[in-house]
Amino acid sequence: MKAGIVGAGIMGQLLAFELTHLGWDVTLFDPAAKNNCSMAAAGLLTPVAELEKNDLLVFQLGIEALSRHWPDVLARLPNVIYFKRMGSLILSHPNDQAELLRFIQIITAKMDSNKLGNYQQLTREQIIDMEPDIVKGCCGYFFTQEGQIDNQQLLSTLENYLFDKVIFKKLAVQRVEPYQVLTQQEKYHFDWVFDCRGLGARDKFIDLRSIRGELIWLHAPDVTIHRPVRLFHPRYNLYLVPRAENVYLLGASEIESEDYSAISVRTVLELLTAAYYMQPKLAEARIIKTMTHCRPTLANHLPRILYSDRYIAVNGLYRHGFLIGPTLAKEIIKFIQHGKQSLTYPQLWNKPNDHDSFQQ
Ligand SMILES: Cc1cc2nc3c(=O)[nH]c(=O)nc-3n(C[C@H](O)[C@H](O)[C@H](O)COP(=O)(O)OP(=O)(O)OC[C@H]3O[C@@H](n4cnc5c(N)ncnc54)[C@H](O)[C@@H]3O)c2cc1C
Repeated sequence: MKAGIVGAGIMGQLLAFELTHLGWDVTLFDPAAKNNCSMAAAGLLTPVAELEKNDLLVFQLGIEALSRHWPDVLARLPNVIYFKRMGSLILSHPNDQAELLRFIQIITAKMDSNKLGNYQQLTREQIIDMEPDIVKGCCGYFFTQEGQIDNQQLLSTLENYLFDKVIFKKLAVQRVEPYQVLTQQEKYHFDWVFDCRGLGARDKFIDLRSIRGELIWLHAPDVTIHRPVRLFHPRYNLYLVPRAENVYLLGASEIESEDYSAISVRTVLELLTAAYYMQPKLAEARIIKTMTHCRPTLANHLPRILYSDRYIAVNGLYRHGFLIGPTLAKEIIKFIQHGKQSLTYPQLWNKPNDHDSFQQ
């Protein structure tokens, strides 16, 4: 079978990876794969914590990816990827516990119908036992099923792995349709077409919008934190995601805007102030770089898959591309191999609406 995939973010690359394993001939179109939203992400894999703002569906897709699909994908790659499942911490200063309690109430209310998530309240001593480099004044919770992945390392490894297995076309696509992909110069024919253009797919997803995110990368040789940490603060929330060799990613803002300009002074001040509160030694960290990008987001903040004859478009990965991407890829593979009756998440699937400019 011949597949044309448009967009080489995490969604397009995971689909290319799965299809090549099935022996398909894959052509991947993208003029800017090194500068997409996926390259800007922090690699948090926190399905339980995401329940605060999201549906149980994202939690289920994320738990499945963490427990089954990520280990399976990583085992098939030639290089070892930094991927940890040591749980995560959600913390606050004792004076700010109201925010933390509100958060716990929201997620426990959503999890009641689904007992998969596991968490425990921690004493200060237990926090210090787990993460000695977190300041003593914090109180919080431990979420056992969470983790992190080095998504930049993953994307470059995937790209290298696919290099001699797929045809890469560094081309902007003008139209994506069943059986064909059109660039300015040429019309390409395929048995199946997969549209993974993120924010480039507004012609197919009319409620697609952009949410800007900003991130700071730190190198802190004097600080050792192993697990992702979220800090609740009355004014702003922070997460810190550990990477190898004492690198930490601090994030991330969420601003309703399609603005790719550099990080704002406000975000830098907020993120660094919260980080400094969590561990004053971070004052001596070095800022390696800052990142800004825009998350492809649908009206209900959930992912959606549009399908018609030999055409599949997947979008709305919002802040969850790495959390849920592998489960979405597996769901799509089930659909093309066994049809609609085999789907685990039929609620994700939609026929294009009449008002969408989709052409059959
Ligand atoms: C600051 C920040 C932090 C984040 N942190 C996390 C996190 O910790 N965990 C997590 O799970 N998610 C996180 N995310 C979200 C995650 O990055 C996105 O959900 C994910 O990248 C979306 O992937 P995608 O493949 O759908 O889109 P993209 O990565 O945007 O890829 C789409 C691709 O399509 C290409 N394209 C577009 N139009 C065309 C065209 N006409 N022709 C050819 N190609 C085209 C683009 O060049 C692009 O490469 C974060 C996002 C941001 C901004």
